[in-house]
Amino acid sequence: MQQNTQKIKGPKIIAVVNQKGGSGKTTTAINIATGYAREFPGSKVLIIDFDPQANTTIATLGVRAAVGPPDPKFPTVYEVLKEEVLPRNAIRSMTIAGTKIALDIMPAHLQLSRVEQELISEYARERRLRTVMSPIVGNYDLIVIDCPPTLGLLTINALSFATQVMVPVDPGLFPLVGLKMLEDTVRMIQRADNPKLKIRYVVPTLQDATLVSRQTIDQLNQRYDALVTPPIPRRTIVGESHARGVDVEALNPESPVATAYRQLVYIIRDSDDDIEDVNNG
Ligand code: ADP
Ligand code: MG
Repeated sequence: MQQNTQKIKGPKIIAVVNQKGGSGKTTTAINIATGYAREFPGSKVLIIDFDPQANTTIATLGVRAAVGPPDPKFPTVYEVLKEEVLPRNAIRSMTIAGTKIALDIMPAHLQLSRVEQELISEYARERRLRTVMSPIVGNYDLIVIDCPPTLGLLTINALSFATQVMVPVDPGLFPLVGLKMLEDTVRMIQRADNPKLKIRYVVPTLQDATLVSRQTIDQLNQRYDALVTPPIPRRTIVGESHARGVDVEALNPESPVATAYRQLVYIIRDSDDDIEDVNNG
């Protein structure tokens, strides 16, 4: 039928999700958003910090943006979700270190931790992010959402809005049980609300030479096959990059971490999720 072959052009909206803390979500979100803007000049990229711990905000805009008293002049994703401000008024533009390339960020503030409670009686609270973002989604080629380490209402909002799910996995943390829960959540949102949603990338992060790391990567390959992307090695440059508020590429483009994230950016660009006709069977 005709409508099944129709292609919908829109931005890629990637939810970076894993309910385990410390699996590399924030590092991955920052480096793919920044990397995409670097590698593909002219592309418009937005990173949404969706974690009340606000690590992406701290690593890009500094601590005061995230933990100081809320500043009415600089609203965050919290006010956007509450429909107190328009999304464009919470977006800040930053320049990527060592370049003239701009990247948009919608920051988080610690008060985001209240929002799950505050939205509890609101209509369509699972879709709030998608609803409020709809006027500006078309401005972007790529939107990256850095999710909190839970499968609660914030992550559900990210999954309802996303077109793709990216799961960073720390292979040292025996991750497979947690991934099963995450798969169930993605399937639930897909059925209820977002038929195109799928886990598109499983990204082994913090990879080292230990036996457990290698064994887990073998298991990931068996289970997720082509979805598994090249592993991101564990290197101290990552901590340094966060402390300096830059991506890894800005510190050392030759670092194996920078190389691995560059590869991932090309995999994202070449991924195809424009096809509306998805078999949900
Ligand atoms: P999450 O957002 O899932 O909690 P983070 O990206 O904050 O995970 O990473 C958790 C910790 O591991 C941070 O201290 C970060 O600096 C560190 N880290 C992440 N990726 C790497 C890596 N490839 N090499 C070394 N340290 C890393
Ligand atoms: Mg994080």
